[in-house]
Amino acid sequence: MTRLIYLEDPNCLACDVQIMKCDPHPEGFAIILDQTPFYPEGGGQPGDTGRIGDAVVINVVTSPDKEVLHIVDKALSSGPAKASVDPERRADHTQQHAAQHLLSACLLELCEAATIGFHMSESYTSIDLDKKVDQEVLERAVFIANDAIRAALSIEALYPDEATLQSLPLRKIPKVEDNIRVIRIGDLDYSPCGGTHPDTTAAIGCLMITRYENYKAGTRVEFVAGERAIRDMLRKNAALTQLSQSLATPVSDVVKGVEKLLSNQSKLEKELRQAKSALLEFETERLVSDIEHSGEQQLIRVLQGKDMSDLRVLSAGVLKALPGAVVILASTGSDGSQAQLLCARGDNLPKLDIREVFKPAIALLEGRGGGNPAVAQGGGPRVELLDQALEAAASALAQQRGLIEV
Ligand SMILES: [Zn+2]
Repeated sequence: MTRLIYLEDPNCLACDVQIMKCDPHPEGFAIILDQTPFYPEGGGQPGDTGRIGDAVVINVVTSPDKEVLHIVDKALSSGPAKASVDPERRADHTQQHAAQHLLSACLLELCEAATIGFHMSESYTSIDLDKKVDQEVLERAVFIANDAIRAALSIEALYPDEATLQSLPLRKIPKVEDNIRVIRIGDLDYSPCGGTHPDTTAAIGCLMITRYENYKAGTRVEFVAGERAIRDMLRKNAALTQLSQSLATPVSDVVKGVEKLLSNQSKLEKELRQAKSALLEFETERLVSDIEHSGEQQLIRVLQGKDMSDLRVLSAGVLKALPGAVVILASTGSDGSQAQLLCARGDNLPKLDIREVFKPAIALLEGRGGGNPAVAQGGGPRVELLDQALEAAASALAQQRGLIEV
């Protein structure tokens, strides 16, 4: 079996190794070494990346028969090689992982919330607690954890015998039976763990909870530590500063400023809806009057800038006032890019199937749509043929009127 240097000395990130085996793998090639500084993914912590010889290590995993497999991008021959772990990625994972020990220990101490899940990715780290916790408890945990970080408590790996193991206040039950490794953080936390940890809590730098939510019967808590926490704060600070400048309000009043903006917007939307509705009412009256003055029981017209819902409101209003009329309305849509067509007839013309009027017109527009005997609507891309389409609808209407002798 491969000697696990990352367990003995997590600070060793480069060493001479012997390549024992290299087999094809779905993601490249799988290398087995005599000893490895690479942490294989497990316990919520992602695997290390780096180099072995001139091959790039994409991931490191543990095989079902407990071999450490280094997944690399090219085949390597057996023999000696240099192995080196990407130090920044490892430092980041170590910071997030050790921060997790600390935060879990603080929350257990504060409110007996046990950590039952841990997940770490490139962008976020989270723990799942077995009970619901509130903002106040989480904020207290952040202060206690950061006190422990500033105190530079020693972090050490213990391999206790059975009797000593029984006497330790372990935070969770070990997953393995033999050679149990316990990570001790000062007198704050004793936790069985096979991950990588710094020598003292000071290396965690700082710890900040970024969000939390109800998850199953408990709470999922996301947090950042170390450089991630600094980058997170810089990013959020930049966003807040920009917001504060845009709103011309101090950062402390940004929330109030946004709330005011949203409330204004909703008021304006309401006013706009009312104004639009009044305008459509006015336009309906004008169309009714146009039909009455024309002496014909029909209206065929292009109305610029209207969308289909406007056309529907107008035609329904006109036909309510003049149930013996036919309305054929078109528009090039609110942005002028799509021909819209609506044909409708009033309730006093039950024998007229308006779809027969609609069909030849929508075909010219190369559009789609349909409806029922009383109203049909649709749209098409051939905006430039709108006038021709209306002529086709008009002539189909004349034909239908002739057929049913209306
Ligand atoms: Zn650990």
